[in-house]
Amino acid sequence: MQEVNIDKITEFNALISGAEHTVIITHTHPDGDAMGSSLGMLHFLKESGTKADIVLNDRFPDTLHFLAGETFQDSIIIAEQDCDKAQAKIKEADLVICLDFNAFSRTDSLENALAESSAKKILIDHHLNPQRELFSLSFSETGISSTCELLYYILKASCMESGKAISIETATALMTGMTTDTNNFSNSVFPTTLAMASELLEMGVDRDSILANLYNNFRENRIRLQGYLLDKKLTITEDGLAYMILDGKTAAKFDIREGETEGFVNLPLAIDKVRMSIFAKEDKNRIRISIRSKKGTSANIMAKEYFYGGGHELASGGKIPFDDGKIPTEDEIASYIESASHKFFNSEKR
Ligand code: 5GP
Ligand code: MN
Repeated sequence: MQEVNIDKITEFNALISGAEHTVIITHTHPDGDAMGSSLGMLHFLKESGTKADIVLNDRFPDTLHFLAGETFQDSIIIAEQDCDKAQAKIKEADLVICLDFNAFSRTDSLENALAESSAKKILIDHHLNPQRELFSLSFSETGISSTCELLYYILKASCMESGKAISIETATALMTGMTTDTNNFSNSVFPTTLAMASELLEMGVDRDSILANLYNNFRENRIRLQGYLLDKKLTITEDGLAYMILDGKTAAKFDIREGETEGFVNLPLAIDKVRMSIFAKEDKNRIRISIRSKKGTSANIMAKEYFYGGGHELASGGKIPFDDGKIPTEDEIASYIESASHKFFNSEKR
């Protein structure tokens, strides 16, 4: 990571202290990094008396609810549940802080409201190719574990200038997002990541409790679905692609909720001959795709070229869209994935 630029911090402090009403926005299907950074930011702003809300396109996973607690129920507006309120909040805001995404389209139903908003906008993100031109101020780093890590260093520098302090609630949220985005310190770990972890532990963050909430708190159904998929639904191609497809019927049979399949895509990477893993899941009017790869194979190129998506070099996502009402069969999805991956593995760019 580059040193946080002091001029930008001065501008950041001026923007947040000058705002009447701030809205924090993150990407659709929010994960640990999205929610950790959003809630860390929310705590930070509220502690200094700023009026702020988080606006989400859709719900966040139950395993992350411990971060929000009771206090912030009213400050998290979910467009899928209350579209008018979500749109109104964005319209009223004079400052919008965008966390953990690089393009407005990653917010799905909030995209137009964001584009039409005349508020000042700050971007804090770690994805490739950010739309910098849409923001008054952008902090964009790719050589970093997570948005939570980037936000930690921004808030630390902000506090040095303003004399404020990072609270334990903010610190806990940031530690959580950094932990999930590194898959508990197994990927994208930089010297700055370990330094951050060390400083947060020093501040009193309870990492054992975070880990218990994140990884030992699943519903039985999720673990049973995991076993079923690995046993019955895992295919490994000659090119070294592993893929699993979860159709809507099976998800319903196992009573799977939003966010409960998080992490499944990583599992096949433990197999020696696997170079890349794809998890495909039926979701409303699309098949959502998660892609993970081992070093030397680009999940990002695969997502961009064949699945209308993107992300990071080794962790990306996208979709197979389909016309309303015509859900592709499992065989059709499998054959699309196999043919795309065969082309990918036999092209120069991989
Ligand atoms: P996940 O597999 O956890 O849903 O996503 C992995 C990474 O890919 C995340 O960094 C996420 O931001 C990115 N990603 C997931 N879906 C999409 C998509 O549809 N478009 C783009 N551009 N990135 C995506
Ligand atoms: Mn992230």
